[in-house]
Amino acid sequence: MKQIDILIIGAGISGSVLAERYASIGKKVLIIEKRNHIAGNCYDFIDENNILVSKYGAHLFHTNEEAVWKYVNQFSEWYPWEHKVMARVDDKMVPIPVNITTVNELFSTNITSEQEMKNWLEENRIPFENPANGEEAVLNRVGNVLYEKMFKHYTKKQWDKYPAELDASVLNRIPVRYNYDDRYFSDTFQALPKGGYTQLFENIVKNPNIEILLETDYFDVKEEYTGYEKLFYTGPVDRFFDFKHSLTEKLEYRSINFVSDTIDAPFFQENSVINYPGTEVDFTRIIEYKHFGNQKSDKTTIVREFTVDEGEPYYPVPNPRNEEIYKKYKAEAEKLLDVHFVGRLANYKYFNMDQAFKNALDLFDSLEKNATITYKT
Ligand code: UDP
Repeated sequence: MKQIDILIIGAGISGSVLAERYASIGKKVLIIEKRNHIAGNCYDFIDENNILVSKYGAHLFHTNEEAVWKYVNQFSEWYPWEHKVMARVDDKMVPIPVNITTVNELFSTNITSEQEMKNWLEENRIPFENPANGEEAVLNRVGNVLYEKMFKHYTKKQWDKYPAELDASVLNRIPVRYNYDDRYFSDTFQALPKGGYTQLFENIVKNPNIEILLETDYFDVKEEYTGYEKLFYTGPVDRFFDFKHSLTEKLEYRSINFVSDTIDAPFFQENSVINYPGTEVDFTRIIEYKHFGNQKSDKTTIVREFTVDEGEPYYPVPNPRNEEIYKKYKAEAEKLLDVHFVGRLANYKYFNMDQAFKNALDLFDSLEKNATITYKT
């Protein structure tokens, strides 16, 4: 067997970044990946309509972390993309996050200034000093009517839980705007990789010190790969421990069914993403990939997202019950000194792409303080 210094389970953001970092200091890295491709849930490809589509849902890169931005720029050119999302509410198309336009459209108001918007919110919000869950977080920001129209049922469809059953942090991902700003994110750097995410990841792992074994479930072969210095595990934390706490307390995950359709028309909808926060349809949103990067094709591909509890785990479900179960696995994980749990599934944390990059870079820096760091920040 070949010498392996660093064994990495999973070729998503965390696994690829750690592979790249360790390879750069001369370590021999092996990545074991269950799927038949790299890039994790960021994986994209050109479909039958000649459109770059993401297999596991749209991925919008945004960050305030200059170090992360510089890091990703080493591996791809990026084009600016300030993501916008529209929501279909009361047969109208309105911006989300809630801004002046959203309120004017839905309530036939004539708000034109930040102060008027603040006044409207003040009259409508239900204040909670420390929102204890997602429902209180939304009521505290925008009040009950917008809660019902835009958040309650979308959340039920997305999580199979009402916002009251989720941590406030889940709903706090969506801000409220006092102006006309209709961008989904307000970070300093917002962009998409010019050649797509798969190409970005190919470049990240392009190093003779990195070997990748695709279509291999680590748990089927783990006895064959034991002589490593360090193991980085990026899969679901409970899987690593053979679901030992799950007989009574199963850690929940949400998965997504992506239902793709070809439409024989130049475009299907006016925006890349349209959310359906009502009960009239079962899906949460429709993504039309052609909008990203202004792609050309005679046809267009749309993908409806149905969130489900069976299938590959995509989202941890942040609430106190799951946090308690996770803590038990975390305590086990901390006992394994040469194994590091990294990423969304291994840390059971709902974080964004840039946080995944940052966590992996920080972990490498903290473990290899004395190594020569070669990336430019
Ligand atoms: N959300 C909502 N209505 C919307 C958009 C989001 O209620 O139109 C809630 C929902 O609970 C969702 C959370 O806000 O899970 C975070 O939304 P985000 O767009 O960040 O979710 P992601 O893109 O990660 O699926």
